[in-house]
Amino acid sequence: MLQSMTSEPEQQFGVGAPDAFQRLWTPHRMAYIQGENKPTGPGAADGCPFCSIPAKSDEDGLIVARGELVYAVLNLYPYNGGHLMVVPFRHVADYTELDEAETAELAAFTKRAMRALRTASGAHGFNIGMNQGSTAGAGIAAHLHQHLVPRWGGDTNFMPVVGHTKVLPQLLADTRKMLADVWPTV
Ligand SMILES: [Zn+2]
Repeated sequence: MLQSMTSEPEQQFGVGAPDAFQRLWTPHRMAYIQGENKPTGPGAADGCPFCSIPAKSDEDGLIVARGELVYAVLNLYPYNGGHLMVVPFRHVADYTELDEAETAELAAFTKRAMRALRTASGAHGFNIGMNQGSTAGAGIAAHLHQHLVPRWGGDTNFMPVVGHTKVLPQLLADTRKMLADVWPTV
């Protein structure tokens, strides 16, 4: 699917090295919209991906960083390159259910994720937030997750080193490593 994006008209971008990710790219979200990887019920035992991801290796789970109470993971269905989520390990749906320590570490990880994305990709801005409840657009409403979507002026560029022709799994693997390598320790 992404192969077709390499025909992006490059002449419309006046500066820098054009690459395949010079616009928001979302066709792969169709798999998500169609229900792939969605839990089958509200509980952690009902196939909740946010509960099962931490059991995987960082590479397999696309985990960028692990804290004591929360972790940062790449979104498999990104709205933009580098779309991260900060997720509590504990299976809770509502922000008010987080205890103080979880709330603090979720906030700290949000800051670190911003720093890492700026370092790795030169992000100009961010959309940050939580969709609370499926009515509000949460795809996996049973396990809260804070989205960080990096933005660039005109969303014109993202990590040019990843190149034009890699398929999404390789792109995500490279992105994960780049962010993990620059993840701040504080
Ligand atoms: Zn869960």
